[in-house]
Amino acid sequence: MSFPKSKRPCWVEIRPHALEANYRFLAAQAAPHAEVLAVVKANAYGHGLALCAPAVVRGGACWLGVTSVEEAVEARVLCADARILAIGGPMPGQSPEAVAHNVTPLLWEPWQIEEMEAAARAADYGPVSYPVHLEIDTGMSRQGVFPKEITALLKLFTPGSPLRLEGIMTHLYAADEGDGGATRQQFVLLEESLRAVAAAGLYPDWLNVGASAALLAGLAEPLGALAARFGMRAMIRPGLALYGVVPQFDPAFDKEPPSIAAARAGLEPALAWKTRIVGLRTIPAGATVGYNGTFVASESMKIGLVAAGYADGLDRHLGNHFQMLVRGQRAPLVGRVCMDHAMLDVTEIADVEVGDEVVILGTQGSETITAQDHAAATGTIPWEVFTRIGSRVARIPVEE
Ligand SMILES: *Cc1c(COP(=O)(O)O)cnc(C)c1O
Repeated sequence: MSFPKSKRPCWVEIRPHALEANYRFLAAQAAPHAEVLAVVKANAYGHGLALCAPAVVRGGACWLGVTSVEEAVEARVLCADARILAIGGPMPGQSPEAVAHNVTPLLWEPWQIEEMEAAARAADYGPVSYPVHLEIDTGMSRQGVFPKEITALLKLFTPGSPLRLEGIMTHLYAADEGDGGATRQQFVLLEESLRAVAAAGLYPDWLNVGASAALLAGLAEPLGALAARFGMRAMIRPGLALYGVVPQFDPAFDKEPPSIAAARAGLEPALAWKTRIVGLRTIPAGATVGYNGTFVASESMKIGLVAAGYADGLDRHLGNHFQMLVRGQRAPLVGRVCMDHAMLDVTEIADVEVGDEVVILGTQGSETITAQDHAAATGTIPWEVFTRIGSRVARIPVEE
């Protein structure tokens, strides 16, 4: 029995080269219509900010998107020269920290604008010199100012304020839907909002709109055209696609744009999640497996124990319903997933030994288990599968 490392074997392998290549691929898809901001929030979708943020910058990203000022400060330490957009906006009292780390906040509440203004002034920023982006609520009801309230809010951007309205931002919440009706309605509200901004005599540089689905559905061109009509440039903010996963589009998506098929072929998964067989036992017919004996052996079986459980982010609903890859073959999960372990049926797989590498998510031989497979098995989405991979699971870079 041999483990290459004397640690509990549950880790993810991250390929920084894949992130670099994915960024270049997406930037090329957006060009010449839009710039691409790389979303690295939530510890780079669970992939590890320290590995991923520098990789996308090497791939050419000038802009990183994170959720909070805390995440922005972490990203600043890693990427001294990147522009960093804090998508969730500053919480009360955080504006001085945002200014100290040159973080570009999204703002939409009067108090946020007032706090940022005071923080920028305290840091000796002159008139109209500290860039901020304004979020418009075009239908998601999550963040942002209502289009009809923009004119009043814009009065806070006075010529004497240190704040410079650099970008107008909204989120497209249904770019993966078939008929595109919601997105068309959001474009109408967005255009109305841009007219209000122009009428206020403000001239932002960026129209900051949309995520992976918007980019892959081909919205860079219409967004670029809308931005150009107001003397702006479009920016799109993919996250999931950067990590090599194409969002699932509505099956009714009429006339799937060729960009989606191109992305399926061109993007490379950046993450593989692995463990090892840490125990093997043969159990007789009638033996039960795991908590509450939800699995009963119908014949003599070989059970492989793996060092991955729900505390590592392995969804408990996968018990008795999913597989992992062992020696290039699919081994069913039997019994309930435990906090730190799970059990595999390796009866049919020849020569399994303690120490064998097991793939939870990724490729082994000719078999692949994707984040979409995990999501489909547990009724969720790949975003949640990635972000639930536990903090005790080491993120290890691999170069290939
Ligand atoms: C998370 C997020 C994104 C990225 O979304 P993906 O679907 O992962 O590409 C873009 N914009 C905003 C506002 C977000 O919250």
